[in-house]
Amino acid sequence: MIEQQKDMLFRSLTELADAHCHLDLIPDDALIKNSIGKGVLSIITDGVDTGSNMRSLELADNRNIFAALGIDPEHIVKLPKSELERTIEFNIGLIRQNRNKIVGIGEIGLDYKDDKWKGMADLQKSALTKFIKAAIELDLPISVHSRKSLSDVFDVLDETRARRVHLHYFEGDAEDAKLAVERGYMISVPPIESSKRKRVIAAIPIKNLMAESDAPVVGKSPLDVETSVRNVATVKGITFEEAATQLTRNTKDFFRIDRQKQDRLIRI
Ligand SMILES: [Zn+2]
Repeated sequence: MIEQQKDMLFRSLTELADAHCHLDLIPDDALIKNSIGKGVLSIITDGVDTGSNMRSLELADNRNIFAALGIDPEHIVKLPKSELERTIEFNIGLIRQNRNKIVGIGEIGLDYKDDKWKGMADLQKSALTKFIKAAIELDLPISVHSRKSLSDVFDVLDETRARRVHLHYFEGDAEDAKLAVERGYMISVPPIESSKRKRVIAAIPIKNLMAESDAPVVGKSPLDVETSVRNVATVKGITFEEAATQLTRNTKDFFRIDRQKQDRLIRI
């Protein structure tokens, strides 16, 4: 109980960061404002298709909200074949044009949710490779989705020599997490507890971890990163505040957020 009270006291002073969410899909603006008001001062919002990328660009103020643009595998597999190449090229063009307004490329990745999507692995890999090449060329970090596809994701990342990699909603086990750390990747933990996730958090250094809400898909709003931070604090045996400080630092460093804020000031 005392620990809990201490946590609440620290909480009111603690700055948080959300490494991955989808603000354009959150219907209620008040939820976003409330998250910022309660200390989630850096939020990375990831686009998932053309419309979502446009809205993410509008939402990004580069003060508290920072955009990453991409097409997630779910939209890649659903795009009509005749439009696929054109849509990817258009969005890579959008990324290029907005290079200095965005902090990353995402959401991108591979999703083998079912046999149908797994059957489209080559198409998914080809799209992922194009986005990774753009990320390397533009020196932007990538936020990568890897549902039931982690070993293929590792292969594509190795083949393309991807740098500045963030594996969001990490589903691998502790051994997979170590492989990611060996490669210098960042892993983020969603606001859900599980014993496998605890083993992942325990297996790797906190410097390779970030917190994410994945709102509104998993969390309700970016404020749900609190749960991710609390999970990390519990497993690592540190206070909420210590975990928050480190995870927030990691997110800001990975996405070079302080530099982005400075650029915004210069532009003003
Ligand atoms: Zn997501």
